[in-house]
Amino acid sequence: MTLIREAAAPATTTVSVLGTPRLLAGVVEGGRVDLAHHRALHGDLVLRRRTWLSGALHDVNLLGRGGAAFPVAAKLDAMPLGRVNIVVNGSEGEPASRKDRVLMTCAPHLVIDGAVVAAHALGARDVTIVIHDAAAHESVRLAALERSDVAGMRIVRTHDGFVGGEIRSVINGLNGAAAIPGGRRTLPHVRGVGGAPSFASNVETFAHLALVALLGVDGYARTGSTAEPGTSLLTLIGDVATPGVVEVPNGVPLGMLFAGQPDAPVLIGGYHGTWVRGVAGLVVERASLRAAGSPLGAGVIARPYAGTCVLDEVVRVSRWLASESSGQCGPCFFGLPALSDDMAALAVGAGTDRLASLTRRVNLVRGRGACAHPDGSVQFISSAVRTLGDELETHARHGSCGRPASTVLPLPAGGS
Ligand code: SF4
Repeated sequence: MTLIREAAAPATTTVSVLGTPRLLAGVVEGGRVDLAHHRALHGDLVLRRRTWLSGALHDVNLLGRGGAAFPVAAKLDAMPLGRVNIVVNGSEGEPASRKDRVLMTCAPHLVIDGAVVAAHALGARDVTIVIHDAAAHESVRLAALERSDVAGMRIVRTHDGFVGGEIRSVINGLNGAAAIPGGRRTLPHVRGVGGAPSFASNVETFAHLALVALLGVDGYARTGSTAEPGTSLLTLIGDVATPGVVEVPNGVPLGMLFAGQPDAPVLIGGYHGTWVRGVAGLVVERASLRAAGSPLGAGVIARPYAGTCVLDEVVRVSRWLASESSGQCGPCFFGLPALSDDMAALAVGAGTDRLASLTRRVNLVRGRGACAHPDGSVQFISSAVRTLGDELETHARHGSCGRPASTVLPLPAGGS
């Protein structure tokens, strides 16, 4: 276990590994891995042809790690021939997530290797790595200076904000426009940076891509589950066994990440995620979690402490989610504040009428935005209402539950 000091806050992030480290090899023992150490741990960079890479990514079922869990092989196959570029998204807009900045701060060469592998396979000359966190930016910048294979690579500091980290926002920002999602859902592989098709994914996805190229299918699949080989980085928050960023083999039971409180509410997938009651039967596997109605998203899992009021936490985050609308779509701009007002009223004892109003509004907002923000926010709020029925009943009867507010879910400075 090692402690990573963050640049943006005095807090520290604890880093740990369950099983054999892959992404975090060398990190837990010694912190940041420089180029010589990286090569000693992983061997020389292995470049693969496009057809090999596509087949291997398909065989190991690599799914994107930014939240949508899109199959990376399909994304690669969708890229046209010709002038294309690579975008490595390290903007990590989810306020609760720390995994991307830990990866970039501690294992920057794995991320760069992945970008170089993708660029080689696609014949791309331009690579852009987009980073928000200052320490992560400095680490990747220094890593690039150590290497001779990064001509055409630029490392860009990006904007803060939840929807600002969404890939279409990032590309708009790189193209000189406001870093918000466009009104139309044009995907990066159709029109990306500079108008050319972009192969764009999260930083952790690129690190896995490097490992697939290095290890081959059999080597990569030596850990993880049959359905989803390999490992995942999670950010664990609150009443969990090891708070901080942890690398786990895919397929491990979620119950291994907690101790006691088997029926406590747990948030899976971050602020666009899902509240569930307990985690029995759930495993760290994107397809099975999605099938269970609680997608892993960007890998944030949080459990408030026993004896605290989770509703207060839900209200606080709902208000912040409403404030993050980019103001382009009415159902999002007007609907999310109204939903957070409904949630706040329920937390101070409003009864069934307000619950009916919230349910009506959920149906008006869902599926009506130009990006995933309203749907994700609705998922956070409606799953809380579903999961916290007992708490809502207590609040409706007494106006509160008398417990201190839970404060495990972080918000950016200035968030309510
Ligand atoms: S859905 Fe909301 S956040 Fe997304 S583009 Fe529209 S207004 Fe902006």
